[in-house]
Amino acid sequence: MNLQSLLECLPSYEYIGNENPDIKSVHMDSREVTKNSLFICVRGFTVDGHSFFNDAVKKGAAALIAEEQLDTDVPVIVVKDSKRAMALLANRFYGYPTMDMNLIGVTGTNGKTTTAHLIEKILTDARKTTGMIGTMYTRFAGVEHPVQNTTPESLPLQKTFSEMKEAGVDTAVMEVSSHALEMGRVHGCHYNVAVFTNLSQDHLDYHETMEKYLHAKGLLFAQLGNGYYPEQKNLAVLNADDEASKDLLKMTAAPVIQYGVNNDAEIKAVDLVFDEGGSRFTVKTPEESAPVRLNMVGKFSVYNALAAIAAVRMSGIPLKDVIASLEDISGVSGRVEKVTNDNDPFTILVDYAHTPDSLENVLETIKEFATGRVFTVVGCGGDRDRTKRPQMARVAEKLSDMVFLTSDNPRSEAPEQILEDMKAGMKNDRYSVIVDRKEAIERAVREAGSRDVILIAGKGHETYQIIAGQTFDFDDRIVAKQALEALTDDKS
Ligand code: ADP
Repeated sequence: MNLQSLLECLPSYEYIGNENPDIKSVHMDSREVTKNSLFICVRGFTVDGHSFFNDAVKKGAAALIAEEQLDTDVPVIVVKDSKRAMALLANRFYGYPTMDMNLIGVTGTNGKTTTAHLIEKILTDARKTTGMIGTMYTRFAGVEHPVQNTTPESLPLQKTFSEMKEAGVDTAVMEVSSHALEMGRVHGCHYNVAVFTNLSQDHLDYHETMEKYLHAKGLLFAQLGNGYYPEQKNLAVLNADDEASKDLLKMTAAPVIQYGVNNDAEIKAVDLVFDEGGSRFTVKTPEESAPVRLNMVGKFSVYNALAAIAAVRMSGIPLKDVIASLEDISGVSGRVEKVTNDNDPFTILVDYAHTPDSLENVLETIKEFATGRVFTVVGCGGDRDRTKRPQMARVAEKLSDMVFLTSDNPRSEAPEQILEDMKAGMKNDRYSVIVDRKEAIERAVREAGSRDVILIAGKGHETYQIIAGQTFDFDDRIVAKQALEALTDDKS
């Protein structure tokens, strides 16, 4: 595609230069540039892509997108915001792939991964060709690809969508983080359905206030119905029991369907009963009602299931089939995942809860079925929201008999400092501070007695730990299993 034609998607720009090169690829990383590329200079948090324009030109970039005039022989296209321009260019370069598939976006503080997986499962069981973009991986055509961010940058994102289109994907389900929305990464994606799970404190390091955080989430709903095919059906799925839905309702032009347990909702769960294995309830839709047995613990799982039921309303899949798919799932990797089996003396659960709210939810759920004591092993990530550290410690203390404060991913921060921040939230002394996560897990396992439950929170499915900027292999599930085996060996 020639440069002039590619630029048609931009609302405004200044073209400095005379040539109109044919563009073979688009990059934001100068190391990836090849002959006849378009290089986009993006200002990141730590690195400014503008400083690499010479490298890019040397490697064969035929044109540059930048936020300022640059001293070079190739054409420079000056735009106000190169990141937003990149999202539009990525869409155009890869042929607007989301126009040719159904796209379901899931946003909210907690429950995105789980809800997205439930939706994917329902659609796959109904023989739709599905694609998934999430925290854990991108998955389509039977292949999983690792990911770095919950929502990738616009260039790899649109490339993935175009590959999904090639593979015949009918419906893509995507976790959409508030960062991605705010930074315009998903700008130009054509969503058919937007799903809201809930809003509670997280990422205030980035968004500063809850209002701004809500606004970022709202961008997904504002984006609905602005697609290229306005006649196509859109749907906003909101949580009737979450206050933030009232604001989101005002931000969307699309038809809305609400789900809930407490308040009036089109998709409502009644007669809830919880047990260690999950829950039973009756789901009521405007047309029918039916019993559901969910093999995932906690009230929050009921919300995730209701959100998924609402999200597939337009797909025409009968409710009985939707329920059969939900009943078939025993859980999502690293989400209240049981490491022990029924013969073990106590229970170990690994969970991804890394916000005060999700930790509270998962611990309250555990308390509902635990017959012994509850131990919690938890830490907080470095280089992220500091204000949640004492709150998470406080929640852990309030709902556990014993807490082991330890490291999560300290990243570039000193683990001891993060633990000091957490300790500020502690009101009693039923806790130990053990910097080394492996040791903390081993201690919890050694001290647990019959019928106790150990919750290892914060890292869920992650298979690594980032300490002092370096990534090490670390999997809570493996470490816990090894600690358990060591215990059995000691006893035999
Ligand atoms: P996300 O992708 O938004 O981080 P996940 O589905 O990975 O959400 O869930 C993360 C953790 O949050 C889970 O392990 C569980 O403890 C908790 N959780 C899951 N769903 C919900 C929900 N709907 N409301 C509150 N907490 C939830």
